[in-house]
Amino acid sequence: MRTLGLIGGMSAESTVIYYQQINRLVRERLGGLHSARLILWSVDFAPIAELQAKDAWDATGAVLAEAARRLEAAGADALLICANTMHINAPEVTAATRVPLIHIADATAAALKARGVRRPLLLATRYTMELPFYRELLAAAGLPATIPDPADRDRLQAIIFDELCQGVISPASKAEVLAMIARGRAAGADGVIFGCTEIGLLIDPADLDLAAVDTAIAHCEAAVEFALGG
Ligand code: GLU
Repeated sequence: MRTLGLIGGMSAESTVIYYQQINRLVRERLGGLHSARLILWSVDFAPIAELQAKDAWDATGAVLAEAARRLEAAGADALLICANTMHINAPEVTAATRVPLIHIADATAAALKARGVRRPLLLATRYTMELPFYRELLAAAGLPATIPDPADRDRLQAIIFDELCQGVISPASKAEVLAMIARGRAAGADGVIFGCTEIGLLIDPADLDLAAVDTAIAHCEAAVEFALGG
């Protein structure tokens, strides 16, 4: 089994999902008491979130590159950034290390295609929805993504940072996000991307009558494929 190196803590609430899901998938594949070989480097998210809000992506890139170097030195055979937004610094992470980065957008694009989605609605942080780095990767995979209108994007940003990343799960916020999905569908989306690794804490894809990909789950599946694959 190969060893996974996780850059987590962004937020800690969703890193729990990664730890649990990766171990669960390894146990399902290998049975019995098997669990994943992994190393977790978990950051303090508060200073990173402040840098994000200032668009200081060079500074966040330095933090992630350092985490990646430490995971590689500790024996990781591949790296995961356990968040969508921070894949803005995927180039810094790959430049700092020699082991592969398992990219969340690749895992997401593959999962969308497997479900037959062609025009997904992207629900994510403001940065992931509005900056080009993420939607460009989806478009290059043949998946032009739409995003909610500005008022919904503001509300989603607040739900992610003020609630989900702080362990607050609100039924009222869930209803708001379901209404955003309904509006996206009415505007032509044929699927939904939970493009923030905390959204699965609020909504279960099984609750929707529209195809949905939870990026955290798709990312964990790709990681376990790497860890156990040929
Ligand atoms: N975990 C989140 C994501 O998938 C949001 C936190 C962050 O901005 O890093 O983008």
